[in-house]
Amino acid sequence: MADKRRVVVLGTGGAGLTAAIIAHDAGAKVKVFEKADRIGGTTAWSGGMVWIPNNHLEAEAGVPDSREEALTYLMSLSHGLIERHLAEAFLDAGPMMVRYLNEHTPANFRAIPDFPDYHAEFPGGKTGGGRSLDTPPFSFLELGKWADRVTPSPYYPDPRLSIYDTPLGQAQPQPVPLEELERRSANQERASGQALIGRLLKGCLDRGIKPRTGCRAVELAMRKGRVRGIVIETADGRRTIKADAVILCTGGFEWDEELKRAFLRGPMTHPVSISTNTGDGLRMAMRAGAMLGNMREAWWMPVAEVPREQISTGVTLVAGMRSLPRSIMVNRKGRRFTNESANYNAFGAAFHEQDVSAFDYANLPCWMLFDQGYIDTYGFPLAGTPRGLPPPQWVTSAPTLLQLADRLGIPAAALETTVARWNAQVAAGADDDFHRGEAAHDRWWGDHGQRGSSAASLGPLDRGPYYAVELKSGSLGTKGGPKVDVNANVLDIDGHPIEGLYAAGNVMSSPMGMTYGGAGGTIAPGMVFGFLAGRHAAGSPVFD
Ligand SMILES: Cc1cc2nc3c(=O)[nH]c(=O)nc-3n(C[C@H](O)[C@H](O)[C@H](O)COP(=O)(O)OP(=O)(O)OC[C@H]3O[C@@H](n4cnc5c(N)ncnc54)[C@H](O)[C@@H]3O)c2cc1C
Repeated sequence: MADKRRVVVLGTGGAGLTAAIIAHDAGAKVKVFEKADRIGGTTAWSGGMVWIPNNHLEAEAGVPDSREEALTYLMSLSHGLIERHLAEAFLDAGPMMVRYLNEHTPANFRAIPDFPDYHAEFPGGKTGGGRSLDTPPFSFLELGKWADRVTPSPYYPDPRLSIYDTPLGQAQPQPVPLEELERRSANQERASGQALIGRLLKGCLDRGIKPRTGCRAVELAMRKGRVRGIVIETADGRRTIKADAVILCTGGFEWDEELKRAFLRGPMTHPVSISTNTGDGLRMAMRAGAMLGNMREAWWMPVAEVPREQISTGVTLVAGMRSLPRSIMVNRKGRRFTNESANYNAFGAAFHEQDVSAFDYANLPCWMLFDQGYIDTYGFPLAGTPRGLPPPQWVTSAPTLLQLADRLGIPAAALETTVARWNAQVAAGADDDFHRGEAAHDRWWGDHGQRGSSAASLGPLDRGPYYAVELKSGSLGTKGGPKVDVNANVLDIDGHPIEGLYAAGNVMSSPMGMTYGGAGGTIAPGMVFGFLAGRHAAGSPVFD
């Protein structure tokens, strides 16, 4: 019998752990190295959702879908950046991966009802959900001594809550009955990204794969143009691990200023990912002669700075609360500039818009404004302040719009005109300027009590005091890197596969281009290309 192929996986996010499990099951001998001192990467900090069109759970839930519809949808969002053959590989392998992980690992995905695609009105889009999946809460008792080795999420102060309880980034948590919370506590259950990573880690441990932390990969060992191993740096120095294949799953380069300056299409000052994602995989691939793709792009996200006592990273994601009635966003001219309810990824474009005459970014800085009616109805979700209580001191406030404009240093007359126009549009029931509240996305993410109608997102600003929070251009991670083929094999600058080198997740040139298909749109391609890489690296490719 031929020797088992030696496969090294770098990084322990969703892409890495999936690649490890699959390579093992396809017959390889697998080692996993992680730079951080804990396991899980940004994936462990996330909502843990995956967006896999045409999956079997969607079919079981009675949602009609097809490869053709999903391909039409993705290509309609491409703007020339999505390569059709990679989108097809994602759509073909995605359902296979979900079925495989559900049947052979503790992953146990389930369909999230009703969660619409982020551009559901585009051809092939789904307004009624089905493509977004997550995993149920997972008991960390099952991980034994490995339970404490998973990196906890700074964004989920209560790890027991899942997307069903408090949709991440959404404004209105669903109360979980106390008995259920107590049951989850007693059982040490964690939800969302913690559950996804906990389950994948259990899948690894069941197979005897024990990720090694504090191990930073720094250099590929190459001979005659192919990968022979990897140099790992630890507190004890460097050593070379022999390998037939190396799968880069090292996340993006959002924490490296030089790489960001070199490649990104516009400002991205506030990443919310794990800070060990400094582009190590990208640099290794570049040294090996990889062709790069999609370098200008990231999974964009509006972000607010918060005190570190509240969230240890000092930043938080601003998603659902932008969609709630009685709030708008304005730029330094005191003008609205976009549909505030739009999906977070699409916001990157608004942040990168330039004012040609001023030779400056048109919408940076910008602020989210809201009124006392917002606070009375929804509280201040960014700080977890319940409704009725004043928002924290770090929020700018003023009794009138004129005074608020003064505090922000924006023209008061323009702000008054903007709010008056907004209030008139709300009264007429339509935002003629930016079409806020028209898309299924806006109607889902806004006020849950009004879900499905434009009232979920439209509401006047007419009750002082008035409040403002500055929003920054952030991201969940970059998504440019080495280009790959349909088996996640990295391509060189002439388009030939580099033997033994693979990439999956945010380290790779994303098959999604500038698009974020729906909730779970980033972890999904990472895991699917991790699946493809694992199979090919082990000598059992999905695609010939
Ligand atoms: C709060 C929040 C919620 C989110 N919710 C969702 C969601 O529900 N669905 C979704 O699709 N996306 C979501 N995202 C985005 C998503 O988490 C990331 O895009 C995704 O997890 C990236 O996965 P990855 O495996 O590529 O990288 P990561 O999960 O970041 O893993 C990369 C790992 O590689 C390690 N590494 C880096 N360099 C090296 C090296 N040299 N050697 C060894 N290891 C190295 C890092 O330490 C890290 O552990 C969310 C993000 C955040 C912050």
